[in-house]
Amino acid sequence: MAAATVSGIAPETRPPARIRPAALPSCPYCGIPLDAPPVGAGRCTRCRRRMVVRHLARRPVYLTEAAVEVFDDARRREADERRWAAERERWLRRAAGVGAAPDRVRRLERAPASAEAVCAARDLYVTAADREVRAARRTKDWTRVSLVRREEAATLFRDAGSPVPPPDGVIRQHQEAAAAALRAMEGARHADLVGASCCPACRADDGRTFAIAAELRAPRLPHAGCPRGLCACDWWIATEEPTKPRRRTRASVRATASATPAVPCGTDTASAARIVPAGQAVAASLTRSDASPVGPAASAAPRDAATA
Ligand SMILES: [Zn+2]
Ligand SMILES: [Zn+2]
Repeated sequence: MAAATVSGIAPETRPPARIRPAALPSCPYCGIPLDAPPVGAGRCTRCRRRMVVRHLARRPVYLTEAAVEVFDDARRREADERRWAAERERWLRRAAGVGAAPDRVRRLERAPASAEAVCAARDLYVTAADREVRAARRTKDWTRVSLVRREEAATLFRDAGSPVPPPDGVIRQHQEAAAAALRAMEGARHADLVGASCCPACRADDGRTFAIAAELRAPRLPHAGCPRGLCACDWWIATEEPTKPRRRTRASVRATASATPAVPCGTDTASAARIVPAGQAVAASLTRSDASPVGPAASAAPRDAATA
């Protein structure tokens, strides 16, 4: 009887592609219509065998005991496949946004939804983002570098479960984004930090002006110790360049007199204390390829004259 096979999945059959609730409640063993269907589990009034109730689309489904496991597995699988498909779609959309090859995106879209397909879509996004950043760096499109890296850092941070502190790789990406934002301010020697209001560390720097060269060497964003992990603080082009010249101390005179090339405006003690190994690595790699927008002139600039 049709109703019996719909509501009671025979144990030897494989789970159907789509499980639907029965139109009329009936015993999954003998198929007799159930005048008083059981709520959780109960016995058929005719064959006396035990049936189990599950729900689909808010409607009850009456199953043989042997079919329950198959039914539950099929439902779990359906839920997994929906989740995988949604996750894959999100990764592929991001990948397309950073110039992933359309045919690779389409191929992954067409593959069956699985955990492996999600990983492949994520890898495609990361690879495409790297390629996009390399291309943007070659043309010195720092705005694009900043945009892609910042988005990537935030995405991979969420994907990792938003741990505090964030993974080193995510911090490096965020730092690369911040450095690129500074480089995009062509010709500027100073930048204003627009701080988020999430924590004392971020609030403390809000509105302060910093020398760009010093920031490239020792990035302070994301703020260490911010409970958000990746803070929303960002750089804006300085509303006005600090004009007061820094008083030349004995140390700075010695530094100028030495054979080392002019060092841009000194790192203040606060940022020096904040230097993290990852940041140094990024700053170093950025400095190597830098056509510095700051240059030696920055050495005469004041440290971090607060504008606020
Ligand atoms: Zn911050
Ligand atoms: Zn914060």
